[in-house]
Amino acid sequence: MTARPILAVGSIALDTIETPQGQRQEILGGSATFFAVASSLFAPVRLVGVVGSDYPEEGWRLFRERGVDVSDVQQIAGSTFRWGGHYSRDLSGRETLFTHLGVFEDFQPLVSDENRLTEIIYLGNIQPSLQLAVCEHMTAARRIISDTMNLWIDMNREELEAVLEKTHIFLINDEEAAQLTGHDDLESAARWLLKAGPSTVVIKLGHRGAFLATNGARKHIPVYPHARLVDPTGAGDSFAGGFIGHIANHDESQLEEAVIRGTATASFTVEGFGLEGLLRATPEGVEHRMETIRGLID
Ligand code: AMP
Repeated sequence: MTARPILAVGSIALDTIETPQGQRQEILGGSATFFAVASSLFAPVRLVGVVGSDYPEEGWRLFRERGVDVSDVQQIAGSTFRWGGHYSRDLSGRETLFTHLGVFEDFQPLVSDENRLTEIIYLGNIQPSLQLAVCEHMTAARRIISDTMNLWIDMNREELEAVLEKTHIFLINDEEAAQLTGHDDLESAARWLLKAGPSTVVIKLGHRGAFLATNGARKHIPVYPHARLVDPTGAGDSFAGGFIGHIANHDESQLEEAVIRGTATASFTVEGFGLEGLLRATPEGVEHRMETIRGLID
């Protein structure tokens, strides 16, 4: 099977990050950036997004080198989205220091006629209204996979629930799942989410792995145990990149393998600041880590 293309929307950002390992200012980041770099290891990727007039050439070069189609990324006057985050000593907690929406404030997503026909769609973390706007452009959607974050659960719950109704596979981390559903235990949170629209839910548990729930089954997948943790930023979107990259190459019976590929892909991301770790990943390197993870599943 040749890999089917994926259309993705999300933030294209300049990130400022503080972890116990060090700091970086205004480095390439954003949910769409991590997703595109990760998924382009496995499938053709078409990005929808916006950057400002200050977006560096380095970012365009990165997409070009990875063969990412950026014809639906608009560059408009104003500032690129900026996000700052600070991690706790053990890297398990993250505090947002600032979110400057910049050109995202009045962004209207546009999708070219050709890209509208894409069947696999990733609605990465951005305002739910923009996720919905992208859905409306798509004329042949077969699989909609979406993600979100605490900010939108707080501020835009109604639109987020509308996104959930359209979603086939929902990816969320455990804290956000508790916030969205009102349930701390995984089973109840998964049940709530499965009633809200998606037929598959993946709850990401950080260093504890991921919980896959479908209407018929539950499965826990552990993390790759040998990753050297430096900066977890982008791990969620890299997970999505590996997960959807797998779906683009296989049929739907392969959800567990898709979670394993997502987990293996994200393990590269956490090993460096920003994109550094992920850029060291190769399809063979990911396969190798998948093998290790498979060996840990009971
Ligand atoms: P992750 O660590 O996978 O949750 O994603 C981190 C990325 O999300 C960073 O590169 C940020 O630029 C981006 N990000 C943070 N907050 C937001 C937000 N409110 N909307 C869109 N993207 C965001």
